[in-house]
Amino acid sequence: MNITQKLSKNRSVLENKLRDLLAKPVFLIEEDAFALPCGCCGITANARGLQADDLEIFEDHIAQYLKEASLELDIEPSFLFARIIPGTSEIASLNSRVLCNRCYMDFARGSGKKPRPDIYILSLDRRK
Ligand SMILES: [Zn+2]
Repeated sequence: MNITQKLSKNRSVLENKLRDLLAKPVFLIEEDAFALPCGCCGITANARGLQADDLEIFEDHIAQYLKEASLELDIEPSFLFARIIPGTSEIASLNSRVLCNRCYMDFARGSGKKPRPDIYILSLDRRK
């Protein structure tokens, strides 16, 4: 399979798991693999119908599903987070990102699950 076929399958597997878990129509309208100029890379799944409440209640399951999706694409699931649309309780996307050193320092410096209003951390592996 090429990368788009892998992403396509990955998107649909993750979407189905979320629908089964939440028992409602959650849509992953797009899944992308990305590489940033700073060195960060990873995947983003843009969501519709996913709420911050869902995340708080089913955090462990959602984190596990995202971890599995990430591993399936050979992306180390070292930093998993959701992006929230500021001022709302809508989850814009689920993300697995392999942080570059500089971005790691930025994220690791903050404490707690919400270092920024738009970021909800599901898991962040601490480096030595
Ligand atoms: Zn970076």
